[in-house]
Amino acid sequence: MSESGYDLVILGSGSAAFAAAIRARSYGARVALVEAHTLGGTCVNVGCVPSKVLLEAAQRRHDCPPTAQTMQEAVGRKDELVAHLRRVKYEDLLARYDLDLVRGEASFEDAWTVRAGSRLLRAGAYIIATGASPNPPPIPGLREAGFITSTEALDLRAAPSRLAVIGGNAIGLELGQYFARMGSTVAIFEALSRIAPFEEPDSSRALHDALTAEGLAIFTGARITSVRTSAERRVLILFMDAAGAEREWEADAILVATGRRPNTDRLNLKGAGVRTTPGGAVATDAYLRTDSGHIFAAGDVTGAPQFVYVAAYQGGLAADNALGKLPIPQNLDAVPRVIFTQPRLAAVGETEEQARGRGAAVETAVLDLGESVPRAIVNRRGGILKLVVSRGTRTILGAHMVGEHADEVIVAATYAVRFKLTAAHLIETFHPYLTMGESLRLCAQALDVDPAALSCCAA
Ligand SMILES: Cc1cc2nc3c(=O)[nH]c(=O)nc-3n(C[C@H](O)[C@H](O)[C@H](O)COP(=O)(O)OP(=O)(O)OC[C@H]3O[C@@H](n4cnc5c(N)ncnc54)[C@H](O)[C@@H]3O)c2cc1C
Repeated sequence: MSESGYDLVILGSGSAAFAAAIRARSYGARVALVEAHTLGGTCVNVGCVPSKVLLEAAQRRHDCPPTAQTMQEAVGRKDELVAHLRRVKYEDLLARYDLDLVRGEASFEDAWTVRAGSRLLRAGAYIIATGASPNPPPIPGLREAGFITSTEALDLRAAPSRLAVIGGNAIGLELGQYFARMGSTVAIFEALSRIAPFEEPDSSRALHDALTAEGLAIFTGARITSVRTSAERRVLILFMDAAGAEREWEADAILVATGRRPNTDRLNLKGAGVRTTPGGAVATDAYLRTDSGHIFAAGDVTGAPQFVYVAAYQGGLAADNALGKLPIPQNLDAVPRVIFTQPRLAAVGETEEQARGRGAAVETAVLDLGESVPRAIVNRRGGILKLVVSRGTRTILGAHMVGEHADEVIVAATYAVRFKLTAAHLIETFHPYLTMGESLRLCAQALDVDPAALSCCAA
């Protein structure tokens, strides 16, 4: 017997799902969420929150060793905070918004029915918000040797003595630095020619230099050919380096951080008339609607940039479009991105290559923060900021920064990209002296003037 009476059934209970559910309640809709595992999904349980608690502990250990927490203490604090935030940000909201939570794995029986464990649910509309999971590459010997993903890495209570990290993007770099600061000897293996490979080359270079200066080994252009296990239960990473030479690196543990694949395999999407992309994401139109007009999707499962604020935005929008009157297209024009290493890498908008690739005429300026930004000079921190602007109007197309507080500075740059501000707007705006935020104005000035020629307050 199927249970009807729901206006909306949401598959998943992560950030996209909760944003959708809360928005749907504002329309007075009756809503159920179906969750197969832990309430709250990736961000609060095994993603943003726990990783940032541990990175903070590692930073303290790096900056101020005598007051450092042990890994055991840091993981304990992380578990407490995760449990607290899961309660106040997810569990408590179920009652507050009068949401039904159905426990069990969801899959479509047909386009109008979802099975959730032993229950069959029917609703006027559905939102698929099942997120993504680690996606280990098919390297010969990797499975036999054993590996961890970010999920297990966040629970380790002792640092492996030598850790091989496969994948040099956000998660691999953040956790690589975390373990290095907790005492591991760390090597990062990145198949492409640079770490943070989708960001500005200047940003990749600055972060590469900072991490290697701290003792991490980084192999870029590295093709891992196989993994072998030695008699002492160590693992041997066999790889071809960028010059084509065969090399090996011995490790005690392997952390795989090669991206996350949308969770769509077990949903019987075909049976519901919902198409997936070659990468396994739910295919949607600009309104987050799937091929079945009453089924929408939001968050990591859509193949959108994997950030919690994108997931939450899409969740709200999917609910608007499923239940509201006017369909609204999604706008992902100015999505900021941060890699929470120290120094941070932060960016928004287009890289120079992306802008030129679509035929735009651009100008760029690159600021050496350690030489030109008073706050960076005082704090003895280096880094870079690059601005990409359109030639002529000088509209800000992209901002790319590696440096202290880059994660905060990028918020101002996001306003600039989102609302099409120009270099002149940045130059005409007061920026408090001495802040890292000043780097935006100084970099805009650097389009015309050598920053070395400016006086103290960049006059
Ligand atoms: C280590 C790490 C660090 C990160 N750090 C950041 C950060 O600092 N900032 C940031 O913005 N983003 C970060 N992210 C990314 C962010 O966590 C995700 O983009 C976001 O949580 C995705 O939310 P979602 O709702 O789409 O999916 P999820 O939160 O993954 O929710 C999906 C839910 O669906 C459930 N589910 C799956 N299949 C089924 C099924 N068949 N039936 C029922 N339930 C099902 C899952 O159990 C899960 O609870 C990080 C991710 C990781 C892994």
